[in-house]
Amino acid sequence: MSTSSVPGPSHSGPVAERSAVFADRHIGPDAGGLDTLLRVLGQPDLDALEKAAVPAAVRNDRPLELPEAASEAATLTELRAIAARNRPAVSMIGLGYHDTITPGVIQRNVLESPAWYTAYTPYQPEISQGRLEALLNFQTAVTDLTGLDIANASMLDEGTAAAEAMTLIKRTARSKSSRFVVDADTLPQTLAVLRTRAEPVGIELVVADLSNGLESLPVGDFFGLLLSYPGASGAVRDHRQVIAAAHEREAKVVVATDLLALTLLTPPGEVGADVAVGSAQRFGVPLGFGGPHAGFIAVRSELQRQLPGRLVGVSKDSHGTTAFRLALQTREQHIRREKATSNICTAQVLLAVMASMYAVYHGPDGLKRIAERVRKHALWLASTLQHGGIAVEHELFFDTVRAAVPGRAREVVAAARERGIHLWADGDHVQISISEATTGEHLAAVVESFGLQAGFAAYAPLMPQWAERTSEYLTHPVFHAHRSETSMLRYLRRLSDSDLALDRTMIPLGSCTMKLNATTEMAAVTWPEFAGLHPFAPIEDAAGYLELIDQLSSWLCEVTGYAAVSLQPNAGSQGELAGLLAIRGYHRSRGDEGRTVCLIPASAHGTNAASAVMAGMSVVVVKTATTGDIDMADLRAKVEQHADRLAAIMITYPSTHGVFEETVTELSDLVHAAGGQVYVDGANLNALVGVGRPGVFGGDVSHLNLHKTFCIPHGGGGPGVGPVAVAAHLAPFLPNHPMVAQAGPETGIGAIAAAPFGSASILPISWAYIRMMGPDGLRRATLTAIASANYIARRLQEHYPVLYTGAGGYVAHECILDLRPITAATGVTVDDVAKRLADYGFHAPTMSFPVAGTLMVEPTESEDVAEIDRFIDAMIAIKGEIDRVAAGEWDVADSPLRGAPHTAAELAADWERPYSRTEAVFPAGVSPAHKYFPPVGRIDGAYGDRNLMCSCPSPEAYA
Ligand SMILES: *Cc1c(COP(=O)(O)O)cnc(C)c1O
Repeated sequence: MSTSSVPGPSHSGPVAERSAVFADRHIGPDAGGLDTLLRVLGQPDLDALEKAAVPAAVRNDRPLELPEAASEAATLTELRAIAARNRPAVSMIGLGYHDTITPGVIQRNVLESPAWYTAYTPYQPEISQGRLEALLNFQTAVTDLTGLDIANASMLDEGTAAAEAMTLIKRTARSKSSRFVVDADTLPQTLAVLRTRAEPVGIELVVADLSNGLESLPVGDFFGLLLSYPGASGAVRDHRQVIAAAHEREAKVVVATDLLALTLLTPPGEVGADVAVGSAQRFGVPLGFGGPHAGFIAVRSELQRQLPGRLVGVSKDSHGTTAFRLALQTREQHIRREKATSNICTAQVLLAVMASMYAVYHGPDGLKRIAERVRKHALWLASTLQHGGIAVEHELFFDTVRAAVPGRAREVVAAARERGIHLWADGDHVQISISEATTGEHLAAVVESFGLQAGFAAYAPLMPQWAERTSEYLTHPVFHAHRSETSMLRYLRRLSDSDLALDRTMIPLGSCTMKLNATTEMAAVTWPEFAGLHPFAPIEDAAGYLELIDQLSSWLCEVTGYAAVSLQPNAGSQGELAGLLAIRGYHRSRGDEGRTVCLIPASAHGTNAASAVMAGMSVVVVKTATTGDIDMADLRAKVEQHADRLAAIMITYPSTHGVFEETVTELSDLVHAAGGQVYVDGANLNALVGVGRPGVFGGDVSHLNLHKTFCIPHGGGGPGVGPVAVAAHLAPFLPNHPMVAQAGPETGIGAIAAAPFGSASILPISWAYIRMMGPDGLRRATLTAIASANYIARRLQEHYPVLYTGAGGYVAHECILDLRPITAATGVTVDDVAKRLADYGFHAPTMSFPVAGTLMVEPTESEDVAEIDRFIDAMIAIKGEIDRVAAGEWDVADSPLRGAPHTAAELAADWERPYSRTEAVFPAGVSPAHKYFPPVGRIDGAYGDRNLMCSCPSPEAYA
């Protein structure tokens, strides 16, 4: 068992073992560093700090019961044993997930490169031009291939993209009907997610067999229609008449589609679709037992302002240079809250970058060659089966052959499995899906599994004229310039060199917990046993995954004090929705249909309100007291006012103000007494692991962000994993999945994500983190994070007021610096300070969340004292610059603050500023030997929004 005393980073055991203590590598401050922090805080040790900073009612009554820490080497050995229990056969299941060949240059230099995977969402565009360019390539590829006008920078998966398309159409269609028609030949997981998402917001799903075209379209009104192209069965159908008929009835049309197929097929945009959705997985992103992968959505330009998620756009910087930044609804949830178009925050940036680079590397010709080979293999297989007397269901298909084998489907699938191939059985049919990775041997083995001999088969590769794609795609030079590996390598390097990620500097973003993503934690992600498994593979071939999922789930339950957890949600936002739907399911199971009010404090993360609306709840805002705490008087009044209708309160703990509120148990008693449930947003769990358990101090449900607290890298804006953890009474209402019974309770709320276990292939990261830290290491990490945040707060207090503190004057794991008095007195804004930090080589803290005009700083436990001091010194030096503005020495408009960030190019140009070039780019503490130059100056966001352009600009734009 673990000991609860944490005197500092000392440990017992033989000396030879010491180098094996991972926690000492993960935690930045060493013994001397910790002393420095504690001395400034006036605390003898971390235990004392815990007692001073964390309210007694919140603190754990006992140490965590987790396995003792294992070394990095031992952890990898254990993981290899788990991996060996997975048997990733040759995957020919299809159904939205296809085997693919990740080009080595992309695997090593994107997926396995910290320059890409440790980056943050590009809200600070000047230091994010590389990933913004990569995402613009992604948007351009999706736009071109779907034949629509504008695409966003990724969705969480195909199922949720379809759900977002449905609600987008609901907001914009002229029809006032509440019916949404779905093609029966749609991926079952997409249908499941649509069901989960439709019902709470009053949308009625009508599933219709549209295989006979127009006649089968349901009578009566509907606001939207989703068609699949190709269908789940592989069929490629001519949807033009159905689309025209839907438009006549004032409905809009979504087409779920496949990017590789669209290199050959007439794109949705050319047959009348208003929206296209799908997954970019087969563009070089491993199967990974279901994720993470980049979903996509593309729309006609009339709908562009309704696009959910993040959209990269082209704008210009202060020198008129072309520059990229997030367009329009950048931080939409925070601004529009319950009126937001969706709750998506973290998306799938790293995977979108991979897919975009796959398109860059292969180019249109290469992609077309891959698609033609897939199609030829499928045609060969179909005619061979037919030749052997087996009926093939569809006349027109791209990659999937659906064969009728009455009474024999399971037998054929079993025979293929014996040959190392996974096929899909559906009643009396077997589906075989061809991919880029399919070989002649695979096909021969499939034929044998049907009891036939492979031989010569004649086939006609003819496509009807309506289906044959004639329009060009990927004509932009970027899709033609990098055919050699050398060129590709340098392109990837050039882009990542433009950006600041964790491999260069601390990223002190409050609420985002940008901590170490250790190399050993990342190792297993690309092992074929984890990367190569299809999410619908026979469950006995996924035994390793099930074991890992089981262990990780039980550890997360122990850490949070809840009874059950679902790992399916693939971002925090999706965990929120799942948790709120669990609450809804619970109330309804007790006949409490009327409980639909969700109380949310004014300071909450914007996703909270957006998720509540998606769960069919109405949001009632609870005020903040002047101390920054929840206004308990207002809370009491609102609970009383809505008692009969109270569904839940959604709080964040510690609060988004970075404070351990003393009132949390009182608050939860109050809400419980009125019949409501308590949702504790667990994004700030980095202040609690090993210290306090939300399931014990008052919560009924929490989502966690494994991409914050549990070391999954942020990937430039995804992937993420947002597990939802619940108390026992809510466990029957966790997500489940139509294809995999093990994914959740039968009584569950349905699928929240397309894949049964969400982004399964990155779960080994969090598993390895917990395994290597052990209970003591986790607790020490938490307390060190709290110590570091308090150290920053104390040292910066005299330069920038710390807005809120808890009892005893302590903050939690982050602190808010109030710039508003400075702005009022000098005109220097938070933006100026954020951009100026780039000149000092830092990524800015979180800007204007949760309070406008402030910066929220979260150092995490991973930064050592030297780096923390470097940041503090930069902030103090910037304050010195602000003082010179205040003293009238510089006009704010001509100050290095407003001029920031400064580029190398402007140094070489005429210099007519009241400060020197050296003051501009080598201010105090910045060594010319280690200087980071942002590639562009301050970006004009408004210009880009007025002149919206969201695909690659022509090369002349750079002239
Ligand atoms: C990050 C965060 C979320 C949203 O998580 P995503 O994974 O980005 O969807 C929700 N609440 C809080 C407090 C957060 O910090």
